[in-house]
Amino acid sequence: MRRLYQRHHLLKCLSALAGLSRWLIGLTFVAGGMTKAADPAGMALKLGSYADALGLHALFHASPLIGNGAATALGTAEWMLGISLLCGFKRASTLRLTLGVMMAMTGLTVWLYVASPISDCGCFGEAIRLTNGQTLAKNIVLLACSLFLLTRLRHRLQLSITAEYGHFALLSTLCFAVVTALYSLHFLPVADFGPYVKGTDIQAAFDSTPDTDDNRPSTGDADASGITGAHPLNFYVYRADTGEDLTFELLADTSYTFLLTLPETQTADDGTCDRIADLYDLCTDRRIHFYMATAADSAGIAEWKDLTGANYPILCAEETELRAMVRSNPGLLLLKDGVVVNKWSCNNLPDADRPATIFIAAPDHRPLLGGGWKALGWYLVIITLIVIADRLRIAILFYQHHIYFKRLKPLHTMRKKIVAGNWKMNLNLQEGVALAKELNAALTADKPACDVVICTPFIHLASVAAEIDPALIGLGAENCADKVKGAYTGEVSAEQVKSTGATYVILGHSERRAYYHETPEILKEKVNLALANGLKVIFCIGEVLEEREAEKQNDVVKAQLEGSLFDLSAEEFKSIILAYEPVWAIGTGKTATAEQAEEMHAFIRATIADKFGADAAENVSILYGGSCKPSNAKEIFAKPNVDGGLIGGAALKAADFKGIIDAWKD
Ligand code: PEP
Repeated sequence: MRRLYQRHHLLKCLSALAGLSRWLIGLTFVAGGMTKAADPAGMALKLGSYADALGLHALFHASPLIGNGAATALGTAEWMLGISLLCGFKRASTLRLTLGVMMAMTGLTVWLYVASPISDCGCFGEAIRLTNGQTLAKNIVLLACSLFLLTRLRHRLQLSITAEYGHFALLSTLCFAVVTALYSLHFLPVADFGPYVKGTDIQAAFDSTPDTDDNRPSTGDADASGITGAHPLNFYVYRADTGEDLTFELLADTSYTFLLTLPETQTADDGTCDRIADLYDLCTDRRIHFYMATAADSAGIAEWKDLTGANYPILCAEETELRAMVRSNPGLLLLKDGVVVNKWSCNNLPDADRPATIFIAAPDHRPLLGGGWKALGWYLVIITLIVIADRLRIAILFYQHHIYFKRLKPLHTMRKKIVAGNWKMNLNLQEGVALAKELNAALTADKPACDVVICTPFIHLASVAAEIDPALIGLGAENCADKVKGAYTGEVSAEQVKSTGATYVILGHSERRAYYHETPEILKEKVNLALANGLKVIFCIGEVLEEREAEKQNDVVKAQLEGSLFDLSAEEFKSIILAYEPVWAIGTGKTATAEQAEEMHAFIRATIADKFGADAAENVSILYGGSCKPSNAKEIFAKPNVDGGLIGGAALKAADFKGIIDAWKD
């Protein structure tokens, strides 16, 4: 009792641990995916740094599509994997993928930690900056969690969402992540975690006196995402023509100043030059400062002037800093008193004809723009609704099953409890006869509380029949031919089995299906012949490990029933005993949990009810098989839909077999 109590507690702790690990990894992935999808341009710059460090500069920078596409794909995939984990969707594949991803990420961060090619891995975009050491520690913890989850705790992970509804959740995440990324690329990031978020007081943050080259802010401590290390901002501008430093003049200006940011000219969008020219005219009329800040060289500046007719003053600045100011090329920044008042992408530049709409923006310190919050809210609502709909559906199904079995309760006790042994190709004739005698004596001395059957090799049948009390022990074969009689050398017909005194036969065992290629059609023939000769059939069904991991066990078992038994009449079906034997549990020492067995048995009974009616379903005995032992039989047999066991290895010793039979005693 004490041991049972301790075991119960241990299982509860393991389940809690599995849940905790799942949330830890899932939330980390979702946060990482969301921050990347919210600012794909920032992530593309980070990926560019990786490409540079790996010597792939030319390939990566061949087109902005490569970086933006990779950042979008990465963010979306990470977000989807996180949601799969949190929802408990397709556990086995999700956990395998998670482990693979974590192994790759940990390998990458070991390299970052050792070689330090870039200062921040970019796991969470600019939202949370981790040093390479912190990232490595984080990944080691997550790797350990995912390894533990996959190898030890997988079956402890509660399934939160069914496959049908899980697909909806994933599809919604896919759409939402892609739309978020495209929106952020076209306009500005829906979540701005960068150093120039609206409302930032650059003047206050920027604390330097750039008089000499030595103390001028350099980009040496900034990586390509425009994030600086110790110094949060690296704002520094000077006139392209004279080299005059305008940084402080610009920041100290108490009126509005427009800064058109143009990191480089090659991929810049020049389709907006008319709108920019209108804005510049408006600023000239109103005596508002308007500058363009660029990192292009003099040839690039001349080209831009030619292309757009630009005649506004041109300043020089660092490319990485310009990209950090506005995630657009060109982009527009509105400053006042050294504070970022507003910013625009080239795709939604303000309209010079409606000046009243330009200068009203109030400083906004929130990293997530208003639209971003709304969209995130909608996403959460959709995912919550999907999960609720799924839970509701399961609850209704459960309730229907509950009502169904409650109605049948009076019949429940009539179902036969059976423990059947399957000796397989073990024991010679003398050993087999001795075992049968020993078992017979044990059961004569201590009457069983269930039906007992032993299924032996053909050569034992007649001899064993002579040694056992048929009122105590039923006798069965492990197979019979799919032919009536005739020239089938080595085969044993159902009629021959019956003539030995046997009354049962095992058919459809996974070993016969796997090694002797017995198809549903062959088994159907065997079942028909066995029934025609008055034998009771112990019909085995069950899925292999890959099928269980792909959560196809219900489909597999249903197909096995349909393929061999569904042409029987309800009357014929009365002579069938079913044995659910998950193939991954047979002879492996791995037992299905009592809950897994019950779940499958209930499903099998419901399938039988659909085909043969409620009475047949309630009366058919469904045995569990797969590493059943005296130590676990009681827990498994206690489940309402488990009516006993088909026992392999443990049937070869009278004491073990008797131990399992005794599991039916109070
Ligand atoms: C079997 O083969 O039917 C069986 C259940 O084997 P074991 O009990 O050895 O897993």
